[in-house]
Amino acid sequence: MAKCKSCGAEIVWVEMQSGKAMPCDPAIIMYWASIKGRHTIITPNGETVRCELDGDLNSSTGVGYVPHWATCPNAAQHRRRK
Ligand SMILES: [Zn+2]
Repeated sequence: MAKCKSCGAEIVWVEMQSGKAMPCDPAIIMYWASIKGRHTIITPNGETVRCELDGDLNSSTGVGYVPHWATCPNAAQHRRRK
């Protein structure tokens, strides 16, 4: 499995519909799509969705990956390098 160059955490690369690969946390989690959502999820199809990460289990939108920049303790470094 790939690792984050910055913090060493395991990551997976999810291919986006744009053709680019997005580093994400390897755990696949449930999400609830919401235009006012405070979180971003990457679906296995490579779509970016605004969402909440908790809600009624019976009404979840689907499952996806959390972009690693959302959880990386060194996220600021990712931005600086770009
Ligand atoms: Zn990291």
